[in-house]
Amino acid sequence: EEEIPEDHPRYQDLLTRHRIEKGVEKGITHLQGMHAEGRGSAFDYLLGEETIPSADAAERAAAAHLLLADHPVLSINGNVAALVPGEMADLAAATGADLEVNLFNRTPERIGAIAAHLREHGAEDVKGLEADARIPNLDHQRAKVDEDGIYAADVVLVPLEDGDRAEALNEMGKTEIVIDLNPLSRSPRVAEVPIVDNIIRAVPNMTDHAHELADADEAELQRVIDEFDREAALEDAENRIRSGL
Ligand code: ATP
Ligand code: MG
Repeated sequence: EEEIPEDHPRYQDLLTRHRIEKGVEKGITHLQGMHAEGRGSAFDYLLGEETIPSADAAERAAAAHLLLADHPVLSINGNVAALVPGEMADLAAATGADLEVNLFNRTPERIGAIAAHLREHGAEDVKGLEADARIPNLDHQRAKVDEDGIYAADVVLVPLEDGDRAEALNEMGKTEIVIDLNPLSRSPRVAEVPIVDNIIRAVPNMTDHAHELADADEAELQRVIDEFDREAALEDAENRIRSGL
C-alpha cells in the first residue's frame, strides 16, 4: 500500500485492487475474487466513486435493522476479509452482530486463514468454522453455515454475495442487507436493503450511523427503516450509472 502515491487520481481504486492481490497471496481471497473486484470497480467508476445520497440512506436503514435485530450476523467472504477486516469488526462491535466466514469456494485452509486475519484486525469471535447447518435449496458446499450463526440469524449482512445464495437466504425469511456496486445484480434485487456503494465506503458509514443511532428507541429505529425506499434506491443508483455513461 505504501507504493501507491496518495495523490494518484485513482488512489482508492488502486488501493482496493492491491488489497485483493494481497488477499490472494495470503490465501484469504480466491483468484475469482479478482474478477469480482474488476466488475465492482467498473460500476464504482460510473457511480463517481462516491456514496450517493440513496446509498447513505440505505446504510442508515441497514444500521437500524442491525440494531433492532435479535440475532444479526455479518457474513464475510474472501473479498470482504481482504478489503475491510477491521471495519467489519468495528461494525460488529457497534451493532452487537456476530461475524461469520461464509465462502463460495470453501476450504478449511481459507476459512482458518480468514478467521485468523479477522482476529488480527480486532474481531473477537468468528463463526463459520462449525458449518453444522445447511441453507435449504442450495448445493451442498455453498449451503454450509453455522447453526447458531447465519442459520439462526434474523438479519444478515451479505456483502458482495452471489445471487443464488442471496435468493436462498431470502427464501429462509431473513431480513437481508446486501452491499453490491451493481444495482442490476440479483443479490441487491432480492435484498430488503440494497446498498449500492463500495464496501470500503459503506461499512465505515454504517458504523457511523450505528453510533449515531445507539441511543434511539425501537420506534425511532423502526421509523428509519420504514422511511427507506428500496425500489427508489435501486432506481436512483441505476440512474446515476446511466448518467455516468
Ligand atoms: P452473479 O450474476 O453470479 O451475481 P456477479 O457478476 O454479480 O455474478 P459475483 O462474483 O457473484 O459476480 O459478485 C460480485 C459482485 O460484487 C458484483 O456485482 C460486483 O459489482 C460487486 N463488487 C465487487 N467489488 C465490490 C466492492 N468493493 N464493493 C461493493 N461491491 C463490489
Ligand atoms: Mg452478483
